[in-house]
Amino acid sequence: MWNKIISWFQETCPTCHEELVCEKFGAYCCTVKVCPNGHYRLERHALIGVPIEYR
Ligand SMILES: [Zn+2]
Repeated sequence: MWNKIISWFQETCPTCHEELVCEKFGAYCCTVKVCPNGHYRLERHALIGVPIEYR
């Protein structure tokens, strides 16, 4: 059960399917995950509540 919840939060790169890695993003209250190969970037802003994708 818990493993399913964890895996739900683990986004993968749509290009190479590598697991995205977390990246610090200044003083903003948001989570940034990037592809380790630089294909993809996902920002999740707490204030907006909507993920922003950069492909
Ligand atoms: Zn990738």
